[in-house]
Amino acid sequence: MIDKQASCQDEFDPNSLSFEQAQQRIQQSVSSITARRTVTIREAAGCVLADDVLSPINVPPFINSAMDGYAVNSNDLPESGESSLTVIGKSFAGRPYDGAIKTGECVRIMTGAVVPEGADTVIMQEHAEVDGDCIKIGNEHKKGQNVRHPGDDFSTGDTIIQAGERLSPAKLGLLASVGVTELNVVRTPVVAFFSTGDELKGVGQKLNPGDIYDSNRYIIFGMLEKMGVQCIDMGVIPDIKQEIEDTLKQASQCADVIITSGGASVGEADFIKEILDDIGQVNFWKIAMKPGKPLAFGKINDILFFGLPGNPVSAMATFYQFVQPSLQILSGETMQNAIKLTARCLSKLKKRPGRKDFQRGVLSNNEIGELVVDTTGIQGSHMLSSMAKANCFIVLPADAGNIAENSMVEVQPFNDLI
Ligand code: AMP
Ligand code: MG
Repeated sequence: MIDKQASCQDEFDPNSLSFEQAQQRIQQSVSSITARRTVTIREAAGCVLADDVLSPINVPPFINSAMDGYAVNSNDLPESGESSLTVIGKSFAGRPYDGAIKTGECVRIMTGAVVPEGADTVIMQEHAEVDGDCIKIGNEHKKGQNVRHPGDDFSTGDTIIQAGERLSPAKLGLLASVGVTELNVVRTPVVAFFSTGDELKGVGQKLNPGDIYDSNRYIIFGMLEKMGVQCIDMGVIPDIKQEIEDTLKQASQCADVIITSGGASVGEADFIKEILDDIGQVNFWKIAMKPGKPLAFGKINDILFFGLPGNPVSAMATFYQFVQPSLQILSGETMQNAIKLTARCLSKLKKRPGRKDFQRGVLSNNEIGELVVDTTGIQGSHMLSSMAKANCFIVLPADAGNIAENSMVEVQPFNDLI
């Protein structure tokens, strides 16, 4: 009897792992890299912070003006009518007024400049009438207006960024605003990857009958680059047991993670399982998800191994859903829950109950601002064009059947990885 093997085309297999079980098992077996590096603030861009950063100063550090105008004492604000104040000097950003104001006096002040001693309020220049060395102000002002106080944003000793946060441009700016020069980040993961298949040719090579170009290595490279990990492209390896084994062993010498594509479905020419049974502890799963049913996951020594399906859309979907969160955990990043949205689906969708479906969709606002989603069309797991057009997954629960036009559906917008 021929043993029936898993493939992307198969329909629901009752022995499958649910999507959620697979996600949980993978995430439970990944932990953060403990090694850390001390880097300059510029080198830290995109890295994950290893220790909390406490502010060494108050921000803002001194009382300053939020407006261009005049610094006054609130006791001089008229209760009714107008009052006249003498301008006794200037306070510019970086060039404070060196003195105090007394009753009946004010100082010309610019945004960000120190509010001089004796002043507690700033009158916007548009609300002051200049009259020689004096200004006239009306009675519409409030004590303390247009003044920023030390520590308004945060104070000395406050935690401004926590360990596990990835350093975005806004966070780099925050670190710079308190004068941080160096900081500790988690060591960047190293990821080795290769494609398997006798039929695969790299771009620039001649296609012989039956050959196709290897797209997965470009997909995986692009996604890894966006994740900011260090990647090692090990090329296309033919379906020759010894070559795959040698490449896996070589990769495990230099990487924290190995990602392969193809050969995970235990077909006739799929040696990956045989090899991994010898050199690692890897599970070959049929996951009740579409696309992306066959997935191998485990470890070779301490190295994480992901054997993604060969079909490019399946490789992408499994990378997005399983590899991406694993690399985040490995990088030391604190996990955020993915944003899920609900949108009205403009077309009917075909779906058989059994597997959780990640159909490719285009999410937009219609003319009245409503969130709507449309399918990218035919959903074959070999059809990369549907993935290239999409900006989201339309996530259909495992037990759902066909979806009628105008149904509300769950949508997972792509982050900038795809
Ligand atoms: P496999 O998982 O090796 O049985 O491959 C499943 C399907 O995906 C086959 O049609 C392969 O030709 C195709 N495939 C495998 N690897 C790649 C790749 N790197 N790029 C494009 N297609 C691939
Ligand atoms: Mg293959």
